[in-house]
Amino acid sequence: MKRVSQRAAHYIRDELLKHEHFIVIALDARQNILSVNRSTPDWKLPGLIRGSVLPDTLRSLLSAAAESDDPVVFPYVEFEGYFVDIHVLGNEASADLVLHDVTELHEKEQTLQQRAHENSLLSEQSAALNSELAELNQELLLRRQQAEKASTAKSRFIASMSHEFRSPIASIMGYADLLRAELPDSENPQALQRASWHLLTLVENLLEQARDGDASVRLNPTRFSLDRLVDDIDALFRTQAAAKDLDLETISSPKNIEVECDELRLRQILINLVSNALRYTQQGQISVHFKHHEDKLNIRVRDSGQGIAAEDIERIFEPFTRVGESNTSGAGLGLTITRQLINRMGGKLKVESKPDVGSEFRVSIPCPRAPDEHKESPQLSGTLLWVDDDQDILSLYQLMLESWGLHVLTASSVTQAKDMINHHNFPLVVTDMHLTDGDGLELFSYLRTAQPGITGIVISGSGLVDLPPETAASGIRAFLQKPLDADVLFTEIAAAFNGGSPGHSV
Ligand code: ADP
Repeated sequence: MKRVSQRAAHYIRDELLKHEHFIVIALDARQNILSVNRSTPDWKLPGLIRGSVLPDTLRSLLSAAAESDDPVVFPYVEFEGYFVDIHVLGNEASADLVLHDVTELHEKEQTLQQRAHENSLLSEQSAALNSELAELNQELLLRRQQAEKASTAKSRFIASMSHEFRSPIASIMGYADLLRAELPDSENPQALQRASWHLLTLVENLLEQARDGDASVRLNPTRFSLDRLVDDIDALFRTQAAAKDLDLETISSPKNIEVECDELRLRQILINLVSNALRYTQQGQISVHFKHHEDKLNIRVRDSGQGIAAEDIERIFEPFTRVGESNTSGAGLGLTITRQLINRMGGKLKVESKPDVGSEFRVSIPCPRAPDEHKESPQLSGTLLWVDDDQDILSLYQLMLESWGLHVLTASSVTQAKDMINHHNFPLVVTDMHLTDGDGLELFSYLRTAQPGITGIVISGSGLVDLPPETAASGIRAFLQKPLDADVLFTEIAAAFNGGSPGHSV
C-alpha cells in the first residue's frame, strides 16, 4: 500500500476525525482492557479504564459476536447516555471494540421518523378534512337548491300579491276617474284619486322591496301631463304641511307639457322624497321644483329640517336603516327603494344635507317630452268581450268603454266566455291574465280557434309576468298592466278595431 503523506495524515486527523467521536478499546483474552484510544480526548466514558474489566453491557455484546470471524456491528446501543455503534473486531483471544458515537445521527433519525409520523397523521387528517369538505359542499348544494326553490316561491307570492293588491286599487282609481268626469267641480273625486295613488305607492314600495331590486321587472312608460302630476303632489301634501305649519312650494317649468315615462314609479319616488321632507322638518319650508329640460326631468326636493350628518349620508340608503334622532314612524325602506327605482329608470340621485339646516335631494330622470297629439273627442264603435272575475272592474270598464261609444259584453269566468263565443262575434277580447277558473292566455287561444280573426288584449295585475314573444303572432296585440292607463287602453282598442299592427306591452 502506498504510504500516506504526513500532510494527508494530518488532514485526515484534523479535518475528518475531529468530527467523529470514537473510542478504540483493545482487550486481552480475559476481556480486560489493554488500551483505550479516543478520537477526541474530551469524550470520556466512565468504566473504560485501562487495566479494568470490560463493563457488562459490552461484555455481553462481545459474547454475542463470539461465533463470527468477521467484524460484527451492533448499531444504536445505548451506553452511558450516548447512542453508539459498537464494532467488534477480532476474536475472544484478542478483540478490539470500536465505539462510534452516533447520538447526533440517532437524534436526526428520530426527528425524521417523528416528522414522517406527523406527516402521515397530517395526511390522515387532511383526508378526513377533505371528506368533511365534500360533505359540506354537498350540503351547501342542497341548501342552495332549497334557497332557489324558496326564492321561486317568493317570486310567485309577490306576483300573486301584486295581482291581489293592484286589482282593487285599480278599481278605486277607475271609479275616481269616472266620478271626476261626472263631478268636475268637486274636490272629492280628486282627493280619492290622490289617496289611491298614495296607497298604490305604498304597496309598490313593499313589492319592490320583496322583489329585492330585481332589475328584470319591466318599466311601464305612459304619456301623462306633468302639470297634473305636480298638482297632485301639491294637493297630496298641502294639508299635511299646513297641519305642521310648514310652507310648501311646488313649482314646475315649462308648463303645459306632456311627458313619457313610468308615471307610477315617478310618483313613488316623489311621494317617498316629499313625505320624508315633511316628516323630518319641524319648521320652515319645503320646496319641490320640477324642470323639464332636454328629455330629462329634474326634480329638487328641499327642506329646512333636521338634516343628516355627513357620516350618515350613505347609510340612509341601506334597507331598514334610520339615522339621527327621530320620533317619527318609518321602516327605513323609502330611500332604499327610491334609489333602486331611480337607477332602474336610468336616472341619478344626489343628496346634500347639513344637520339643523336642511336637506336637498336632487333627481334627474330620463323622461322625454311626448310628441304633440291632436286628440279628437274619443269616439269608437264596435263590440268587444271583456273577461274579468272582479265584478267591480268589469262594471268600471264597461262604463268607461261605453262612454267611448263601444258595445261591451262581459264574462266573469272562462266557462262563461267560452259559452258566449258560440252566440256572438267579437273582433276583440280583453281578458284578465288570472281568472278564478283558468288562465287568460289559454282562454284567448281557445277563442281564437273558434273565431280565427279575433284579436286580444291581455291584462295582468302581476308585475312579474312578461309577454311571451310568440303571443303577438297568436293574435294578442297588447299586454297591459293594472292599474290601466285610460289613454293607453283607448289607443290599443282603437288600433285593434282599425286593424293596426300589434302594440307594445306596457
Ligand atoms: P324612513 O323615513 O321610513 O325611516 P327612509 O329610507 O325614507 O326611511 O329614510 C331613512 C332615514 O334617512 C330616515 O330614518 C331619516 O333618518 C333619514 N332621512 C331621510 N330623509 C330625510 C330628510 N329629508 N331629512 C332628514 N333625514 C332624512
